[in-house]
Amino acid sequence: MEESAKTSCKLCRPIAIVCFWGPQPERNWKRPVLFAISIPILLLGAVVFFIPPKYTLLEMLALYLLFGFALFIGLMGIIVSILGCNKCVARAFGDAFQPVNPARTGHELPSNGRVLWAARR
Ligand SMILES: [Zn+2]
Repeated sequence: MEESAKTSCKLCRPIAIVCFWGPQPERNWKRPVLFAISIPILLLGAVVFFIPPKYTLLEMLALYLLFGFALFIGLMGIIVSILGCNKCVARAFGDAFQPVNPARTGHELPSNGRVLWAARR
């Protein structure tokens, strides 16, 4: 069942729903970076299992929502970085970190890079 794992996968559909911001440019470095980012987020979300039961029901609910969200994001990131295709990785990665990136590769051309990215869509 390894049909063209590079261009599409089982996660494409759910990712397309969850990641409403639309497709993002595919980059090779996004997979390891997504994985690396997801670990601390997942750990943060896991704190929910260690919340002492000294809060009121309403506070607990808020905490569960907060950490549950982090748990979900972290889990999704890890699953996508392991099982997802390049498209899913790029999409799950989102737009958030992109302004940081062009500078990393050397001589930064922030405006230029963005125009390039936009043009490639
Ligand atoms: Zn996919």
